[in-house]
Amino acid sequence: MDFQRIARPQIKDLPVYSPGMGTDEVRRRYGVTDVIKLASNENPLGPSPMALEAIKGSLEEVSVYPDGACTVLRARLAEKLGVPAERFIFGNGTDEVIDFIFFAFFNEGDAAVMGDPTFSSYFLSGMTMGASLRYVPLHEHSHHVEEMLSAVDGATKAVFVGTPHNPTGTICDREDLETMLGGLPPDVLLVWDEAYYEYVDRPGYPESLDYIMEYPNLVVLRTFSKVYGLAGLRVGYGIAHPQIVDYLERVRPPFNVNSLAQVAACAALDDTGHVERSRAVNAEGKRFLASELGRLGMDPIPTQANFVLFRFDHLIESLTPKLLARGIIVRDGASLGYPGYVRMTIGTGEQNAAVIGVIEEILAEEEGG
Ligand SMILES: *Cc1c(COP(=O)(O)O)cnc(C)c1O
Repeated sequence: MDFQRIARPQIKDLPVYSPGMGTDEVRRRYGVTDVIKLASNENPLGPSPMALEAIKGSLEEVSVYPDGACTVLRARLAEKLGVPAERFIFGNGTDEVIDFIFFAFFNEGDAAVMGDPTFSSYFLSGMTMGASLRYVPLHEHSHHVEEMLSAVDGATKAVFVGTPHNPTGTICDREDLETMLGGLPPDVLLVWDEAYYEYVDRPGYPESLDYIMEYPNLVVLRTFSKVYGLAGLRVGYGIAHPQIVDYLERVRPPFNVNSLAQVAACAALDDTGHVERSRAVNAEGKRFLASELGRLGMDPIPTQANFVLFRFDHLIESLTPKLLARGIIVRDGASLGYPGYVRMTIGTGEQNAAVIGVIEEILAEEEGG
């Protein structure tokens, strides 16, 4: 069979996403019992107990197709966020909403502007549709909005901005958002990805939803995968003008968000205590890691998310494999456009301290030769 002939040319060079090694594989391969996984920015406190209860209460319903419109979750979010219900689009994770944006609006050659480095879903989804990807280098690990605006031309359909950005943890301030909204042609989408919204504690972080009624080209993305601790259930959403939502709905599979994800997300929204604990643990871990990684000379980039990107290559040749062999899974920056860096999810106090201890051991061994 000529497999090459039937594959679409756009996907022939598309890399398959690699999430890295899982906990079980590390246990087996390295014979370590205690594995700490801080590679995918999951909530170290786990899901809300209220979400777990809600899932248990709904198990019997899994023989029935879910509500494709996410009616209950939609109404809850509309009320909580003060946004009309018809402005929501739900996805099997926010990743799927990013797919919808490309499926609905991008023909071969249409351009998407994004930072460099940036979150892989933006360019992987874009490549699938044969989009032309315009990468604009970060400045000091942050988006440079004027340069991104300069990269917009007649072929551009959307600009993608993660804030906090992945993999750097940096945010755009209000001025950045207003510069973007003011500078973009009205028919170019601004996809403002706030997957880590709940973790931000820096004043000056704009309330993007305040702009949603005035700017029909603004699309805000949020998720239940991070602070809400539901990454495994896959539920995320976008907020946009009803006409944009209408187009995204046309490319959405009918039952894309499963019923357990929907009830869990509703319950997680109600569990404000769990969100507060998660934020507090993260804030404490952020302070600890900034100070400890700084002390070790690893230049942690000040983060507004639940992960921290830090540098090792001026101190040691490789770090990720050495951590892995000791049961600590982090993400090597090389796979994120940041060679010589590591992206580590902020864990519990105990996990963070363990990682710092192991890094110190590794550095000491290196010095000992
Ligand atoms: C984690 C993440 C998302 C959300 O992913 P889900 O598909 O909802 O799990 C979106 N954008 C960025 C930048 C992320 O890091």
